[in-house]
Amino acid sequence: MSKKKRIAVLGSTGSIGTQVLEVIAAHSDIFEVSLLSAHDNYELLLEQSKKFSPNTVVITNEDNYKRVEDILWKDDIKCFAGHKALADCVQMDEIDLVVAAIVGYAGLDSTLAAIDAGKNVALANKETLVVAGEIITKAALKKGVNIYPVDSEHSAIFQCLMGEFQNKIEKVILTASGGPFRGYTKSQLEEVTIKDALNHPNWTMGDKITIDSASMMNKGLEVIEAKWLFDLKPDQIEVIVHPESIVHSLVQFEDGSMKAQMGLPDMKLPIQFALSYPERLKTDWPRFDFKNFATLNFEPANFEVFDNLKLAYDALEIGGNACAAVNAANEVSVQAFLDGKISFIRIAEINRAVFNQFEKLKSPSIEQLIETDSKCRQLANALLSQ
Ligand code: NDP
Ligand code: MG
Repeated sequence: MSKKKRIAVLGSTGSIGTQVLEVIAAHSDIFEVSLLSAHDNYELLLEQSKKFSPNTVVITNEDNYKRVEDILWKDDIKCFAGHKALADCVQMDEIDLVVAAIVGYAGLDSTLAAIDAGKNVALANKETLVVAGEIITKAALKKGVNIYPVDSEHSAIFQCLMGEFQNKIEKVILTASGGPFRGYTKSQLEEVTIKDALNHPNWTMGDKITIDSASMMNKGLEVIEAKWLFDLKPDQIEVIVHPESIVHSLVQFEDGSMKAQMGLPDMKLPIQFALSYPERLKTDWPRFDFKNFATLNFEPANFEVFDNLKLAYDALEIGGNACAAVNAANEVSVQAFLDGKISFIRIAEINRAVFNQFEKLKSPSIEQLIETDSKCRQLANALLSQ
């Protein structure tokens, strides 16, 4: 019998993390869990630990450590607390693949640590590539590490590229559902509530990415993610709105041929492919059926109403620490919106204002990116009350 693939799930209590565990449970003959991490939701983490018996568990919010440790030591599961512990634990020998599913900048250090230890990474946490894409991709190249995209658009491109690795990409086209505010004018956006913004038409996801989808920042972050994953120039990355979320993205090659990857919107498919690559594992999930979709629609993205999308291209054009600056501003403004402190349209305004003010660096080190993140959070926080 061949050895099972031993998987670390960082952010196991999130929308992606729980779906990763569903995929692992459905294929327990080939996958097993070696590490789980969570931040606040220690109750679900305990439940998951009972079910999957990982070697190690890390609770990154140290305040929750006793609650987890008191229970897990009886099951002989090692338990640690904090981000530093997580960055150490992802390097353990008992891990074959690290699923990076923490949300936001908080996932950067553990993802980098995994790559430094030569672990292959299934990457959901797009913000890490947005903040430090150059450093991460260089480190992965140096260590011979594969980064398998979990994001559905990037998984689609990756799937289109199978068997094509020698062929040059002319451009990629990322599809966007358009979110709950597709077709809205700027003045309509002024009226929207938190509830409206959290009501995504096609996907159920964590709160941060759901707001990013409503503001089109998610697509902006994905443009940056695509640049680093597939070594593209900004003008090789296009965005098209496709409300049905059936075509997950497309690649156009130098002969003009286009390939698309399609399927019903369900994150379990790209998650499973990132875990099982290059194999495809049989599933009994519902299939796409043309009979249920008389038409598939495509329309241009509105860069005027959704300035976040334009901002991502502007940041890519400048390069250096610009994408890290935009990401930091966005994490602060989105949290402030979710906390009811600012209106929806202030998200993009604050992001743009931070972008106009931050101190630009051409080839930042990781320390300088960390400093950029912290300074831009301060800038954004100062703008919240204005
Ligand atoms: P969720 O908010 O649902 O989950 C986030 C996970 O990260 C939870 O396990 C949470 O722990 C943990 N976490 C939160 N804050 C911290 C912190 N400061 N330090 C360490 N861990 C933390 O997010 P999603 O699953 O929706 O998204 C995860 C990532 O995947 C994001 O980068 C997102 O952009 C990306 N992604 C998500 C998709 C989706 O369908 N959800 C699709 C494509 C990409 P706890 O719950 O215990 O507090
Ligand atoms: Mg996506």
